[in-house]
Amino acid sequence: MSGDLSELYQQVILDHNKRPRNRGKLPTANRVAHGDNPTCGDQCSVYLRLDPGIPGGAERIGGITFDGSGCAISQASASLMTTLVKGKTAAEVEAMFKDFHHIVTTGQAPEEISDLAAFAGVHTFPARIKCATLGWHAALNALKGDPIPTTTESHTD
Ligand code: ZN
Repeated sequence: MSGDLSELYQQVILDHNKRPRNRGKLPTANRVAHGDNPTCGDQCSVYLRLDPGIPGGAERIGGITFDGSGCAISQASASLMTTLVKGKTAAEVEAMFKDFHHIVTTGQAPEEISDLAAFAGVHTFPARIKCATLGWHAALNALKGDPIPTTTESHTD
């Protein structure tokens, strides 16, 4: 059969799965959320630090990491997500997720979007959409969640 997994596992996905970016805990995180996708067995935790923006402006993501296990789609999507949302506001991340959700549910990518389009093949495998969006949901939940105490006790360094 054509249109199979070889199309689904695009180069970007393979690369992020093989060499995940921003993987592990973020010691300075002040937001954390966990997501899991029981239908596939995927797990994903997102750690991020919201920094104050310019006075009167929105907070921005100063740092973000993810940790988890599961299929290539879920882990690669979380890895790619962390590379795209750093420096963004919660509203900007929500807008990016809307674009990404459109890509994975329709297979159609807006022109200005690059690496996210690698996941367009997911739309032919509806069961995998939850894999692709797992990390994004965790990140959005982390952004909406309450602050957690940071593990750094002081700023003496
Ligand atoms: Zn999965």
